[in-house]
Order: sequence, then C-alpha cells, then structure tokens
Amino acid sequence: MRVLITGGAGFVGSHLCDRFLAEGHQVIAVDSLLTGNLRNIAHLTNNPNFTFLHQDITQTLQIAGDLDAVLNFASPASPIDYLKYPIETLRVGSVGTENTLKLALEKNARYLLASTSEIYGDPLEHPQRETYAGNVDIVGPRAVYDEAKRYAEAVTLAYHRAYQLKTHIVRIFNTYGPRMRLDDGRVVPNFIDQALKGIALTVYGNGQQTRSFQYVDDLVEGVYRLLFSDYSEPVNIGNPHELTIIQFAEVINELTDNPAGIVYKPDLRIKGDPQTRRPDIGRAREILNWEPKVPLAEGLQKTIQYFQQLSEPT
Ligand code: UDP
Repeated sequence: MRVLITGGAGFVGSHLCDRFLAEGHQVIAVDSLLTGNLRNIAHLTNNPNFTFLHQDITQTLQIAGDLDAVLNFASPASPIDYLKYPIETLRVGSVGTENTLKLALEKNARYLLASTSEIYGDPLEHPQRETYAGNVDIVGPRAVYDEAKRYAEAVTLAYHRAYQLKTHIVRIFNTYGPRMRLDDGRVVPNFIDQALKGIALTVYGNGQQTRSFQYVDDLVEGVYRLLFSDYSEPVNIGNPHELTIIQFAEVINELTDNPAGIVYKPDLRIKGDPQTRRPDIGRAREILNWEPKVPLAEGLQKTIQYFQQLSEPT
C-alpha cells in the first residue's frame, strides 16, 4: 500500500510511519513542523519506501500518484500547544481534515481520523463509552481542540455518508512513549524531566484528577487494526488502567529513584481540566479484538530511557 500520514513527524505519527514501513508499505509523511520535529523521522531519511513532505494540510495538499490510505494525525495535541496555537488548532481540525478527506476521495483511498478523548470534555459518564455525547465547555480555552475534533468527526462521517468513502475514527486516550516533546507541557514529559533532575514533581490542583495512560505501541496496533476493519463509527483506543495524578507521580518517582517527592501547584495553565478519564474499550475488544498489552512500568521504563538519552551530550 501507499499510505499518507499527516502529522508524520509528530509523536504518534512518527511511530505510525515506523509500523507501516515495517509491514512493507510505502509511507509519505506530511507535516507542517509546527509541533512536529524532523528528529522523530531522522532514522527514516534513507529508507527508499519513505518520503517526507513539508506541507501544511490547511493549505491545498499536493500529493502526486496513487494513495491507498490517508491517516490524519496532524494537530497540536498537548494543552499548552493548543492554547499557544488556538487558531491553527481549529483550522487543522476543520479545514485540514476536510482537505485530507477530499484527497482520500480523489485518490479512492481509505481514511482514518485521529480523534481524542477530549471530545468527552470533563465527563459525567465514567468510564467513557463511544455513545457518550460528552460534557465539553464550548467556550472554555480547551474548546479550540475539543470542538475542532468534534467537527472533524462530523465531517469525516459526512464524507462517509455522502460519498461512501471508507472512513474510520479513533478516539485516542492519553498516550505516552519515546518521541514525546520534553517541553510539550504534558504530565508524562514534565514528571520524567523533573524526576531525572531530582526535583519534586509538580502536581496541579489537588492531584485527585485521574488519567489512564497507554503506551504508544498499543495505540499503533489499535490504529492498524481499525484501518483494515469495515467499521466507521468511532472507536476508543486507550488503556483502562486508571490512576490519580498523585499515584502516577509516585510511580514515576519510584521508577527513577527520585527522593524529591511531589509539590502541589495551582493549575494556572488551563481551566476546565477534566477530573476523570478512563476509556471503556468494549467496542475495540469486540470489533478489533484489541486490548492494550504493555504494562505501565514497562512502557514508562522505555520512555524514561528515551528522555535520558535526549539529555546526554551527543
Ligand atoms: N498535570 C500535572 N502536572 C504537570 C502536568 C500536568 O499535575 O506538570 C496534570 C494535569 O492538570 C492533568 C493531567 O496531569 O490533570 C494530565 O495532563 P496532560 O497535560 O498530560 O494531558 P490532558 O489529559 O489534560 O490532555
């Protein structure tokens, strides 16, 4: 297959490039490099099956030749990124998604949209099933991401219904692993960075808010299976292992032997921090025969190792 991956130089996109190449496919990665980084795909530069195109999907996309699949993973995805780039985030989810849908239609390619657990907002249903309509603050600061992705889902299903385009929607829950940006402000890089420096981990608010963290390889497996399925409704892909942020900080401190503990900070960053988040993965189990395999400690060890290597002088 010849596969286009937008956001291909990003954290998740670059892991998808690796997976499709390993399966013998040709990969074209497109990235605007707003939050992506060429370092994530540097190891692929000499691979004859790999091409990188520096393009912004909110502009007209120029892709020569046939395509069998389009995977749309382009978007700022960490809260500090989408607060820094609010207009870009809205445009990439709306205009960018429609541009990639048009391209898939033109090339007669299957299409997969990266959506997010953020579309559930600060959820009142727990764990979150795909049938839950969510509790998004539509005028809050996070809305630039939440609403962009809600629109992206709607326009994807509209193309499916209007043109019979083969489309898929993955709702991605908190994912971590090598190639996350150290400065993307999310809890995994922040805590690992602090732990490796031997300083206290910054817990925002009272630390009782929960998240459920999945290792990136599990996500990639779920996406791969979904692309080859016949299923067009949204599918949650995440790890149901739920922790409070305090518990998560304790795990990081233990794995890194960091004696500095935690320090509480008011969350000045953003209001509307979801208080709970945990996927119901019944649909992924049933449709894709998928479930996460990588235990938290194992995935975190690999991620810690990655951040350790980053800080070593080359
Ligand atoms: N968080 C924290 N300390 C940090 C960074 C984040 O306590 O240094 C908290 C944040 O308030 C949220 C959770 O960790 O409750 C996950 O935040 P993240 O930015 O990783 O992603 P989100 O799930 O909110 O998109």
